Amino acid sequence: MKGWRIPKMQPSRRAFLKLGVATAVASATRFSGAEAAGSGTGAAPLDQFGYNEIELLDGPMRQQFEANHSLFLGLDDDRLLKPFRQRAGQPAPGEDMGGWYDNSPDFDPHGTFHGFIPGHSFGQYLSALARAYAITGSQPTREKVARIVRAFAPTITTRFYDGYHLPAYTYDKTSCGLIDAHQFAGDGMALKVLDAATDAVLPHLPPKAMSRAEQYAQPHPDEAYCWDETYTLPENLFLAYHRGAGDRYRDLAVRFLEDDLYFNPLSEGKNVLPGEHAYSHVNAFSSAMQAYLTLGSQKHLLAAQNGFAFLRNTQSFATGGWGPDELFRKPDSGEMGESLKRTHFSFETPCGSYGHFKIARYLLRVTRDSRYGDSMEQVLLNTILGAKPIREDGFSFYYSDYNHIFANKGYHRDKWPCCSGTFPQITADYGISSYFRDADGVYVNLYVPSRAIWTRGSARVTLTQHTNYPYEPATQIELSTAKPEPFTVHLRIPAWAGAKMTVAVNGRRIDAPLTPGAFTAINRTWNDGDRIEVEFEMPMALEAVDPQHPDVVAPVLGPIALFALGRPPSPLRRSTLLAAAQTARGSSTWSVETGNGSLVFKPFAAIQEEQYRLYHEVEA
Ligand SMILES: [Zn+2]
Repeated sequence: MKGWRIPKMQPSRRAFLKLGVATAVASATRFSGAEAAGSGTGAAPLDQFGYNEIELLDGPMRQQFEANHSLFLGLDDDRLLKPFRQRAGQPAPGEDMGGWYDNSPDFDPHGTFHGFIPGHSFGQYLSALARAYAITGSQPTREKVARIVRAFAPTITTRFYDGYHLPAYTYDKTSCGLIDAHQFAGDGMALKVLDAATDAVLPHLPPKAMSRAEQYAQPHPDEAYCWDETYTLPENLFLAYHRGAGDRYRDLAVRFLEDDLYFNPLSEGKNVLPGEHAYSHVNAFSSAMQAYLTLGSQKHLLAAQNGFAFLRNTQSFATGGWGPDELFRKPDSGEMGESLKRTHFSFETPCGSYGHFKIARYLLRVTRDSRYGDSMEQVLLNTILGAKPIREDGFSFYYSDYNHIFANKGYHRDKWPCCSGTFPQITADYGISSYFRDADGVYVNLYVPSRAIWTRGSARVTLTQHTNYPYEPATQIELSTAKPEPFTVHLRIPAWAGAKMTVAVNGRRIDAPLTPGAFTAINRTWNDGDRIEVEFEMPMALEAVDPQHPDVVAPVLGPIALFALGRPPSPLRRSTLLAAAQTARGSSTWSVETGNGSLVFKPFAAIQEEQYRLYHEVEA
């Protein structure tokens, strides 16, 4: 999925104002290939569905959501609250959680991460539970949200952040949990608690967003004091403002927009990603999008679009993952390819996927460019869907490993890392990432087993999708309505789709051309029981890791990267990789004869404990 054009912005400030909103947006979304549909029209962003309006049907996504929901619902309240109570000087019963979550003097930035950021992920667990309640209506989940908000409130003190490595980082997650408890679990106390938490952190925050370089330039007791992520604060601060927490949250959000070193140059088309910490700087794009949505700031929309284009064009593996060793790399340096030999930390998977989904959702809603949906699908199928479940003792899946010499799946060394916070959040967001809507109809973004139920005018509409995609290159969508209802169903036609892709309604192929990299619109009066059948053509391709390593390639079939199991011979012939074929329709196994035995491939999500290799050296 290379080739996202970086728009050349920008005209002078005056010309920019004269050009107006529409032109600025249109120029920013002009990628190579298909023109972005719908952008530049000044149309309102697509709406997100409510968490309660989308249901995942049986399948791996629902399994991941349910596993995370049940794990965090079952976590002991006292353990969750322990570091907060300890730092407030209160009785703190319960066992330590372990890992990053504890208060402990053990932490060493070059050694153990035990005690790294006490209580850091509490807000994410709270957020995930609030979203899970909105999805399932589970009363025990709502009660747990209410209970932990009330137990957290009396622990709040500004002393919590004394000698604390990353105050903004933890506050960002705490505030997310509290606004979600308010919004999605109807917790009437959560915004008041947020106010107290905000008062407590303010004396510990710098006057503006600080880059890592700026933090290193200041005196610091140890290196971890230089890793705070103030530049990710605005998204949740703007959301707090939108959800009624008050004007000071909007003002704080503006204060922490990292314009000087990040958004200004990005908006001007300068790639300032190299050298930056990967996940938090992708997460920051969502702050830019909130600045656009809240303040109407075109500059921040451009910064997010350009940043995402740089991410896709210069930082991404064939899986859609990015940021080896959590760092962005210099384009055309060959460092992506070199990383295959040097690290096992190829993509920070739960956090990276969560950040990727958030920014892609914002950009898709604003631009209606389906390729943001393509990138979500790629990251879903090739990364997060293959994450191992979080263990009850806190060991969590963190990095996807694309190492050339030896790669397999494992757990992070330290319990309860950052990725244990984002994993339950992204699995709660699977549903709302799958469909969008506007006044005219519905957008089908992800081809996943799911059901959307919503009201159009006076009609209740249900859209049910059954699919074994990508193991079968097809999906079936059934509409059900109490009475005939006119609206448009938009289907994402993936940019990789082959010319043989077809869409049929009630068995009749639609006439409209299917343009890869755009949504196709089916506008008609829908009757109860109408069916849409989609058959994809998934071409096989070889994707080089970077331009400096044209002979180090991964086989990619439509949206999925195929990982070879075991220790395949090297080098391989291109024609061998391209000949890999699925063992049966619906199977998760592909194979090819090498003359040296058969070589077996699986997508990341189908790999368990096996050793595997993503990229191969090829000849001819
Ligand atoms: Zn993480």
